[in-house]
Amino acid sequence: MLRTGECDAMLEKNIVVLGGGFAGLWSALGAARKLDELAIENGFKITLVNKDEFHTIRVRLYESSLTPTRVPLQKLLSPCGIDFVKGGVIGVNTSQKQVTVRSETGDSVLNYDCLVVAVGSQLFMPRSVKGLSEHSFNVDTFAGAERLQSHLLSLRSKPDSNMRNTVLVVGAGLTGTETACNMVDRLRDILGKGEVIIADHSSHVGSSMGPEASSVIVDALNKLGIKYLTGIRVNEIDSSGATLDDGTHIETETVIWTAGMRANPITTMIDSGKDSLGRLYVNDYLQMKDIPDVFVPGDAGTFLIDGTHYSVMSCQHARPMGRFAGHNVVAHMLGLPMLALQIPNYVTIVDLGADDAVYTKGWERHVIDRSSAAKRTNEEINCHRIYPPISGERRELLDAAAPVVQSAPSLKH
Ligand SMILES: Cc1cc2nc3c(=O)[nH]c(=O)nc-3n(C[C@H](O)[C@H](O)[C@H](O)COP(=O)(O)OP(=O)(O)OC[C@H]3O[C@@H](n4cnc5c(N)ncnc54)[C@H](O)[C@@H]3O)c2cc1C
Repeated sequence: MLRTGECDAMLEKNIVVLGGGFAGLWSALGAARKLDELAIENGFKITLVNKDEFHTIRVRLYESSLTPTRVPLQKLLSPCGIDFVKGGVIGVNTSQKQVTVRSETGDSVLNYDCLVVAVGSQLFMPRSVKGLSEHSFNVDTFAGAERLQSHLLSLRSKPDSNMRNTVLVVGAGLTGTETACNMVDRLRDILGKGEVIIADHSSHVGSSMGPEASSVIVDALNKLGIKYLTGIRVNEIDSSGATLDDGTHIETETVIWTAGMRANPITTMIDSGKDSLGRLYVNDYLQMKDIPDVFVPGDAGTFLIDGTHYSVMSCQHARPMGRFAGHNVVAHMLGLPMLALQIPNYVTIVDLGADDAVYTKGWERHVIDRSSAAKRTNEEINCHRIYPPISGERRELLDAAAPVVQSAPSLKH
């Protein structure tokens, strides 16, 4: 015979959120907010699964001080009645509506009624580059950034040499540029000197940023004394440095790989259309067209964000995608109208080290500012705007998860 608790548990609808980054955290809180708005206290269970117990502010991982980049998930979830499972997702079966999670205590299966796949993206590591995984560093994950920082600190105890003092950043996109520009001060703090080189296969640096911003980036690299190599590919990395496709060998103990992102391979477990980055296509409710019980916000999914442009792998898009997915998952389960997400504004701010940054607006990336004001605006975004309320206060957390699109950040003079 079933006891009452077991009976209730069986009747409970399960919302399972995979990933506790920008998209996952805000999906879980968004779902809790919608239930709260509807004054629904029973009958739904929200569970968030994440590899570790932190909401990581991934956009700050190029910095040297990493402690502020992690916020404990439990502090954000438990006040809102969201269950947390620490573990790595190893299986998704959308026919059985089950997810398999591997944790320290073994494998377990979670059944879901609705699933939010918010497992994000990861650095693209081409197999064609010999020695890449063994001999390179990255700023893609907290563990990667921590490993890089302790390696940089360890250089201090090594004999002075060009090889020790040189850092090669591969990839001159946004992440590579921010990493290289900030590396100048990081090396100076640790070694008192250093040389930073940035290399890219494109014909010019910051090519994805458009011509206006690209020339600002070149100017910043020149001012910082960063050498840039364009139109090159890295063929091999070993403990003595990197060999380029023209045969040049750059002697360095520090190669930081930042060249490209791909959707988390968990997306391959879902049999549906994907773009060239491996992202699952969703509609503007963040819902898969052919599997309507599955929502995919953030870097793992994509859709036309303004009717013309596809969403970009960015926290700028992942956060609203998460808030709307959370709202819509509950609305979908209750047969209520869902909210379509459209984001009319697109901005980028690239940290150019020291007291410098470039702020662009629009998809053409017109430069609206390049100064310490842009730098302060970036700090405001990275250190405040994109953080969840760390008070851990339920009302504040739920209110912050409302399905609204924030206006573009104004310049902080
Ligand atoms: C150095 C750097 C700088 C950046 N700068 C900017 C910027 O200035 N502006 C901007 O908009 N974007 C920036 N980005 C991109 C931005 O960080 C990502 O687009 C954003 O984090 C995507 O959010 P997400 O929630 O989809 O994925 P993520 O933030 O990556 O979160 C995914 C979560 O899922 C978890 N997870 C993954 N796999 C599993 C699994 N198998 N099982 C359980 N959990 C799993 C991860 O641990 C993580 O918590 C930057 C990225 C980097 C690396």
